[in-house]
Amino acid sequence: RAKDEGGGRHCTYEPSLHAHAEERRKLEFSLRHALERNEFSLMYQPVVDATTEQVLSFEALIRWNSTEHGFVSPAKFIPLAEDTRLIVPIGDWVLRTACAEARNWPEHVKIAVNVSGEQLLDPYFAETVVGALASTGLSPHRLEIEVTESIFVRDGTTAQMTLENLMGIGCGVALDDFGTGYSSLGYLRKMRFSTIKVDRSFVQGAAKDNPESLAIVRAVVAMADALEMSTTAEGVETEAELECIRRLGAKKIQGYYFGRPMNRTDALALFGQTRFKERAAG
Ligand code: C2E
Ligand code: MG
Ligand code: MG
Ligand code: MG
Repeated sequence: RAKDEGGGRHCTYEPSLHAHAEERRKLEFSLRHALERNEFSLMYQPVVDATTEQVLSFEALIRWNSTEHGFVSPAKFIPLAEDTRLIVPIGDWVLRTACAEARNWPEHVKIAVNVSGEQLLDPYFAETVVGALASTGLSPHRLEIEVTESIFVRDGTTAQMTLENLMGIGCGVALDDFGTGYSSLGYLRKMRFSTIKVDRSFVQGAAKDNPESLAIVRAVVAMADALEMSTTAEGVETEAELECIRRLGAKKIQGYYFGRPMNRTDALALFGQTRFKERAAG
């Protein structure tokens, strides 16, 4: 290439930039066809009661097995789907699929669905949720929408209004990855989230006796208690992390220790078991 352009001056970085843009273009092309080609699936990760270890809910996590690219991580394609607004139809599919699946579970088990800012700011978002609930017959009380702090940065008022509409019909709203974003306590004063999800980085830090992480988790739990919100500790992987998080008083636990994201069959099979400990013990 350098020769074609008559000089090698840019060749140390330009080809890699070009390759990056080209890769992204290809990924975007594939993403545009992924829904019609049925390339998405959902995995379900259990969230358990910190005290009783009963399954309270599952979080739906999207997976993309692309014809051209194989499995692509959500960390890679969700931002692309957001930039191109493809997240709106994809998110619609996630909602309908997740709500339909939750109908197969015991009545007390909820489904949590991640929602991006682009979806929330779409004028039809509330209708999409209501449509997914109506067509599957799932009670709104069994659906929890997960949003991150970033949604309050762009158009906080619209986001808040939409979420309040959904809470008005009985849906829960969880604040995901708490502590990693643009943490501002302003919106905690205005909105009653059902759950604050404490990011995995704090869980790991606390279990390693990092004083800052310990203080932050303790403070978030105390604040959530006072505001009558529940708390979920994300990314609990080890017994040590579990014990630490229990002592700090988080109400719910999610993480590899209790279960990795699993397919619908494995999720359903968990209801044969009453407690996870028995399962872990074999
Ligand atoms: P998230 O909502 O914070 O989901 C939790 C992520 O942590 C998931 O990654 C899950 O597999 C992973 N995880 C759970 N427990 C553990 C653990 O013990 N250790 C470790 N190391 N990781 C754990 P995943 O499935 O790759 O999803 C990444 C992110 O992609 C999600 O983060 C969420 O922000 C986004 N995402 C996933 N599905 C959807 C979707 O349907 N719609 C939208 N808008 N975003 C989604
Ligand atoms: Mg989430
Ligand atoms: Mg999270
Ligand atoms: Mg996270």
